[in-house]
Amino acid sequence: MTSLLSGKNIVVMGVANNRSIAWGITQSLHNAGANLIFTYRQERSKQKLNKLLDKHGIEPRMVVPCDAEDDQSIEQAFQKIGEEAGIIHGLVHSIAFANAEELQGEYADTSRDGYLLAQNISAYSLVAVTREARKYMTEGGSIVTQTYIGAERVVPNYNVMGAAKAALEASVRYLAEDVGKDDIRVNAVSAGPLRTLSAKGIAGFNDKVSAVEEKAPLRRQVDQDQVGDVNLFLLSELARGVTGEVLHVDAGFHTVA
Ligand code: NDP
Repeated sequence: MTSLLSGKNIVVMGVANNRSIAWGITQSLHNAGANLIFTYRQERSKQKLNKLLDKHGIEPRMVVPCDAEDDQSIEQAFQKIGEEAGIIHGLVHSIAFANAEELQGEYADTSRDGYLLAQNISAYSLVAVTREARKYMTEGGSIVTQTYIGAERVVPNYNVMGAAKAALEASVRYLAEDVGKDDIRVNAVSAGPLRTLSAKGIAGFNDKVSAVEEKAPLRRQVDQDQVGDVNLFLLSELARGVTGEVLHVDAGFHTVA
């Protein structure tokens, strides 16, 4: 796998700490020889990211602030990346947010503001980011986002995020159609539950992990590395014929009743 992405500039959005899915992806991409560019929102995330990069001997090409809720911030971030890196070959979108109070109880109780916030950060951000990144993806490329089975089925407490992920998955297909003309592919990875900072906000999260261990064909949970490697596959030339797809990395959980 060493040379799959050698010389390729890949933007990774969404490392908050060592448990982040984006950190698992980072390690897979680094092992495949990619030049890595990171975006972060909170200063705290930037500090954690820098420490992790140091610890693992990964030299980032750039680390740039980007608030996915703010069009101007997205535009500025990609302009900076484009000016300095020249060409973007790939992009990892690993960003989502919903208020903790919307991730418990009944979906019917979702507030209008909470609904819009989840859609804004977790789904619309992919549209805005694709629009800006595309300007610098002049040699074609690949965009990968992260989704969850709660988009397809009712997962208790996932509620407003399920609706946001459904919009995200539909966006993957519509964006794939738009940017396919420029030889850019857009796909989503649907990972099994992983204990990350964001996952902590979902009520009863441990039950979701146990359900996968009990029911999935592989009878085990997936880990960050497995999710990272599938993102790597979709970013690489190996997946050159794949776009508009949602690829499950969940030990087969989505296939069982
Ligand atoms: P993390 O909390 O580690 O990562 C979430 C990231 O989203 C953080 O880096 C956070 O940045 C970023 N983020 C939130 N709001 C914004 C914003 N407005 N602008 C920019 N960045 C923002 O959790 P995960 O790694 O679990 O989540 C990554 C993705 O994977 C999400 O899309 C999630 O829904 C998805 N996913 C997670 C699963 C799981 O079980 N954990 C399963 C399937 C999919 P900051 O902290 O700096 O605000």
